[in-house]
Amino acid sequence: MTSKDSDRSNGKGERRQPGLTRNERLVWDALSEAEEPLKAYEILDRLKDRGVRAPMTVYRALDGLEEKGVIHKLDGLNSFVRCNHERPHEVQAFLVCEICTTVKEVELESVSDVAAPLIRRAGFDMHTARLEVRGVCDNCECSRHGPRPPNH
Ligand SMILES: [Zn+2]
Ligand SMILES: [Zn+2]
Repeated sequence: MTSKDSDRSNGKGERRQPGLTRNERLVWDALSEAEEPLKAYEILDRLKDRGVRAPMTVYRALDGLEEKGVIHKLDGLNSFVRCNHERPHEVQAFLVCEICTTVKEVELESVSDVAAPLIRRAGFDMHTARLEVRGVCDNCECSRHGPRPPNH
């Protein structure tokens, strides 16, 4: 009997991240489990059961994870999301729903391909570019405009 699908694959692209400290791993797990962006204190809340009590622990882990390019900070929301790309990338784009606050990370290849060379040519050493696009997600759009099912 083969059991190649016996390991936990929850469909969310569970990636093993090598080289994370114990605390970074905990924060990473918390962000992976969350369906939405988390603020630092929300992460701390989720990790209290696992022995993390100091805000500094969370902040340090967030810094480390951001440096490694495996999470992103959303300045506008003051919260953090797990990166869903395979590799670190300098152009980050997020679609932020103003109704349900879900955040979807999308790839803007044209920005990387077109804008990055222009920026470099201007003699600027770009580290990251972040774009937060605000609007209404598919789900909320549908429930706003779709026909309401009759209650009775
Ligand atoms: Zn990313
Ligand atoms: Zn929404």
